[in-house]
Amino acid sequence: MKTIHNAIGGQLVTSTSTRSQPVFNPATGEAIATLPLSSVSELNDAVAAARKALPAWANTTPMKRARVFFKFKELLERHADELARLISLEHGKVHDDALGELARGIDCVDFACGIPHLLKGEFSRNVGPSIDSYSDRQPLGVAAGITPFNFPAMVPMWMYPLAIACGNTFILKPSERDPSAPMFAWQLLMDAGLPEGVLNVVHGDKEIVDAILDHPDIKAVSFVGSTPIAEYVYRRGTQAGKRVQALGGAKNHMIVMPDADMDQAADALMGAGYGSAGERCMAISVAVPVGDKTADALVAKLKPRVEALKIGPATDKDAQMGPIVTGAQRDKIVGYINSGVEQGAELVVDGRGFSLQGYENGFFVGGTLFDHVKPDMKIYREEIFGPVLSVVRAQSYQDAVDLIHGHEYANGTAIFTRDGDAAREFADKSKVGMVGINVPIPVPVAYHSFGGWKRSLFGDHSIYGPEGVHFYTRLKTVTTRWPAGIKGGAEFSFPSQK
Ligand code: NAD
Repeated sequence: MKTIHNAIGGQLVTSTSTRSQPVFNPATGEAIATLPLSSVSELNDAVAAARKALPAWANTTPMKRARVFFKFKELLERHADELARLISLEHGKVHDDALGELARGIDCVDFACGIPHLLKGEFSRNVGPSIDSYSDRQPLGVAAGITPFNFPAMVPMWMYPLAIACGNTFILKPSERDPSAPMFAWQLLMDAGLPEGVLNVVHGDKEIVDAILDHPDIKAVSFVGSTPIAEYVYRRGTQAGKRVQALGGAKNHMIVMPDADMDQAADALMGAGYGSAGERCMAISVAVPVGDKTADALVAKLKPRVEALKIGPATDKDAQMGPIVTGAQRDKIVGYINSGVEQGAELVVDGRGFSLQGYENGFFVGGTLFDHVKPDMKIYREEIFGPVLSVVRAQSYQDAVDLIHGHEYANGTAIFTRDGDAAREFADKSKVGMVGINVPIPVPVAYHSFGGWKRSLFGDHSIYGPEGVHFYTRLKTVTTRWPAGIKGGAEFSFPSQK
């Protein structure tokens, strides 16, 4: 069986930890690799390597740093198929979906290639007599990233390309469940010419995360994962004096107005609800049709579509949705479906007990659809992170908006309508970080920034894009007077333009 290695100081290093866990192929249920749960001393080695690499890297010109990322992008594109297969093997998502994730990750690399322009700063001449002023964004030092299982290539690329392009060095702690894609990408970045120690990868669990949060030489932490862990990471990291951005879970609602094109809305819900088996933080998990007539029409469109979902391993080119990442996650999803039934929601399509010939031990759950879900039900309140769509019927547009505002999460949301007034009002007034108008998954492009509101994001900065540049740098403003020889005597009043 394959053993996953750490990457420290430019070398693949076999962990000496006595703790490890298996990595599964979710389509077959087989353990295919052993992942070390590294020790604190291994993290310390990685931080030492990152510290050692820092001065030279921070002093490398932005143009030369960018060149490494131009090359990295080229290598990622050349190896996209191979990388996508690795993603699918350990995560379970279908090949095209894995390629899509990778493409969005490459967009972030593309953005990082523009770092000379992004770090240009601002200059003002003559802010006072013979005085000029300029502002500059400088790297923070060693930064770290802790990432979830659901986008093993893209989410790390939300972090390290920009952090490193800004002149920092980096420690990545990928998800334990699908570590091979980030390792492959690390190798490509080394092949692209990144100096040793600038990007280090250490595998592990809570022990390593805690060590990252407490390490005095790590200045900033980016986290993406579930809300309880995001909140914990934010509190512990900021307590230790670090800059932290911690992105958490979601329960994304899509309002369907009576005037919406019902086929378009149903198709959008299929992709956004069941793509990647619902294991996306921007998945739509709640459909909110306005009025019973709209709800009846929408459910009538959805039911046959959910029943016809093609579910299979990623190697099946026709599959629209793959298995769930682990057996434990599959059982948790089935537990949620049971609870929905017990609490009185109407189970329109039941995905429990789904089995596929030849893949009987795979972690599959079929597409599941609930109607008449109420806001106090567990399947509504909590993030399921599986192929389960809940229909909550609203009696008016205002009811639908109030429902969204009553939820603890506020990552993404969408409205489907032909009414420009309603769309504009929704974009303007909804208290959610990312809004789609007739767009079900409004993930911002790499040159904007990604982030939810409320308990979907802890910290002041969204991730990647311009906010990412701000997160991974700190501002310095310099005021200079030339020629130096000007004499005006001592000034005791506060400097001002009199
Ligand atoms: P998770 O919270 O279980 O794990 C995320 C990371 O935290 C992993 O690297 C894991 O090793 C670490 N971790 C887990 N338990 C920990 C603990 N007790 N202490 C310290 N560290 C711990 O999340 P997951 O199951 O891998 O990913 C799914 C979750 O991520 C969902 O909630 C999803 O909504 C969220 N997510 C959010 C976004 C976003 O941008 N907001 C994007 C992707 C995923």
